[in-house]
Amino acid sequence: MIDRLAIIGVGLIGSSLSLALRQAGAVGHVVGYGRNQKNLEKGVELGVLDSFEASIKNCVQDADVVVVAVPLGAMQAVFAELKPSIKSTAVITDVGSSKGSVVSAARAEFGDALPRFVPGHPIAGTEKSGVEAGFASLYQKRRIILTPLAQTDQAATAIIDEMWTHCGAIIEYLDVEHHDKVLAATSHLPHMLAFALVHYLSGLNDHDEIFRYAAGGFRDFTRIASGDPVMWRDVCLANGNALVGLIGQYQQELDRVVSAINDGNADELLKLFGKAKSERDSLIGNC
Ligand code: NAP
Repeated sequence: MIDRLAIIGVGLIGSSLSLALRQAGAVGHVVGYGRNQKNLEKGVELGVLDSFEASIKNCVQDADVVVVAVPLGAMQAVFAELKPSIKSTAVITDVGSSKGSVVSAARAEFGDALPRFVPGHPIAGTEKSGVEAGFASLYQKRRIILTPLAQTDQAATAIIDEMWTHCGAIIEYLDVEHHDKVLAATSHLPHMLAFALVHYLSGLNDHDEIFRYAAGGFRDFTRIASGDPVMWRDVCLANGNALVGLIGQYQQELDRVVSAINDGNADELLKLFGKAKSERDSLIGNC
């Protein structure tokens, strides 16, 4: 049970966490901070927040757990602002989609509070943003990756592990670098492909006609291109090295498809599509 939870950034991820903890009866008072007062008022109206504050200082000062759920590019400034005001026993966590940049920011800002910082990443989300996008079941049976550091206090990690367990999530542990490599492949690369495809098609002269005839496959493939541009800009900048390497390898894969088509190589195409289909079928069966 968390007596007082502070959420900095009351959007999809932060509000879903609050709703899930409330549903589980695992939180007392939830206080929020964001820049947009209307979003915070909506949070109170929707039962996401009990109250909100106009400054990070006031939001975190009595909190037992502080969850930082802002875009990656805003993490360091938020850490700097909350550090002087937190209780000495407060545990801090984040939900950022890339961990290397967040951990560097935490190392730069937290000093003696670093052991109470538990980096985290829920592998759950939608393409929607803001407090109204949140829902209590978002984390049910979804993985939450925690990437504690050598300095991280085990008791702090246990509190954050328990917090996500109350939300119905499955908790896993990875080291920071490994997290960023794996997530570049499974999440960040697919988002780049979807954004680039929609952007490319929208620049064609006959794009109106192309989009008019778009069917289920196009919708499935491009749903994630409706994700928040600020969030994805920040993910690219934060995890650029891993991502650019993968995009290069993916371009080679596309070249392989182009060669097979140009050569009329039916066997090669069948082999490639057959392997991809069986991999995806077994993956979806396991999800
Ligand atoms: P979101 O719905 O846009 O919410 C982010 C919130 O942060 C907004 O409500 C915004 O409120 C606040 N914010 C933005 N910039 C801020 C700043 N400079 N200072 C203080 N508050 C700020 O985004 P989200 O999807 O919840 O994502 C939040 C974090 O979760 C990101 O780090 C993202 O990488 C991570 N994440 C997202 C997903 C996903 O699928 N969406 C999945 C896993 C992890 P105001 O505009 O009112 O300030």
